[in-house]
Amino acid sequence: MSQITLIKNAEVFAPRSLGRCDVLVAGDRVAKIDQHLTLPESVGQVVDADGAWLMPGLVDTLVHISGGGGEGGFGSRTPELDVRDAIAAGVTTVVGALGTDATTRTLNELFGKAKALEAQGITCFMQTGSYQVPVNTLTGSVRSDIMLVDNIIGVGELAISDHRSSHPSRDELIRIAADARVAGLLSGKGGVISVHVGDGSGRLQPLFDVVEHSEIPISQFYPTHMNRNTSLLEHGVEFARAGGFIDFTTSTTEEILASGEMRASQALAMALEQGAPVDQLTFSSDAQGSLTNFCDLGELRDMEVGAIASLFDEFRSAVQREKVEIPRALQVVTSNPARALGLKRKGQVAAGRDADLILVDPQRFQITHVMAKGRWQLFDRQPQTAERSD
Ligand code: ZN
Repeated sequence: MSQITLIKNAEVFAPRSLGRCDVLVAGDRVAKIDQHLTLPESVGQVVDADGAWLMPGLVDTLVHISGGGGEGGFGSRTPELDVRDAIAAGVTTVVGALGTDATTRTLNELFGKAKALEAQGITCFMQTGSYQVPVNTLTGSVRSDIMLVDNIIGVGELAISDHRSSHPSRDELIRIAADARVAGLLSGKGGVISVHVGDGSGRLQPLFDVVEHSEIPISQFYPTHMNRNTSLLEHGVEFARAGGFIDFTTSTTEEILASGEMRASQALAMALEQGAPVDQLTFSSDAQGSLTNFCDLGELRDMEVGAIASLFDEFRSAVQREKVEIPRALQVVTSNPARALGLKRKGQVAAGRDADLILVDPQRFQITHVMAKGRWQLFDRQPQTAERSD
């Protein structure tokens, strides 16, 4: 049965500020946004938001949903994502990927977990491949994975400038990007390569080289971990000014920060100051990934697990600590990541888009309600056991 919900008196950030509005949800989509909408109680549910901020559900473009390899031996393998953590964090769309380990962590497993998260109420896409080249795939090629498997939207996390990378050649990168791009064009998906960038001296040079020596546009690559150090951030600003999207990782530890990483919120403020266009900047959580701190010799010093809650926390810090205006900080965790990966129905509160919404208490800057695909998953801070229509 399709549901109708009217949310009244919300301060809407779409992420653009729309002021005080009512939002009508029909089925899994937003039907209408207007100043005064009415709905007879017999037709559907009416919720008075009473001035709460209504925002798009967050879009997290990098989550190791099936758990990460762990880089301190098998004992350090990390657990898979719990959907309740995503919902509590206001994340209604996640993109799952493998990382360093594509031997004991497989695409089959990733696909199963993506389907599980969808059955549990949120939206989950996934990337084919891993850090490694040649790219491991589900169906035999990057092209057929993107074209034939609904959940697969691109390739990632392919690693460059990192001691754990396969050190792909320029020609290898061109070939992978070309395959992903064509498959994306044919299937109406982004076909983007999410790129893990390590702390190697090459920084983003391998991607700049591809763009210079091929017909591949810069927007086909989406590098992450750009807040790793100031030198990488500077290269990232150059990349964003040339029309690419760059991503800052919100999960971190005190040790990693002490070794030169910046908080995502701080990196956002610095990138804006250095002239990066706000439309090209995103945050992702890297949740369930192992947060490794290697010493100079490449030996693992310590390890923690990335948390999906860090995405909203860094959005809040961008507003409260770094004084970035709400719509600008919000687009970095909603509409920008959706555009970066070509997720057309995600990341905005607008008629016709998916009804993925959060309500935020403006006094405490805390999430009180989460709606995913038109259904409440969190209501007044209470998790909802969503009854299903199927
Ligand atoms: Zn990574």
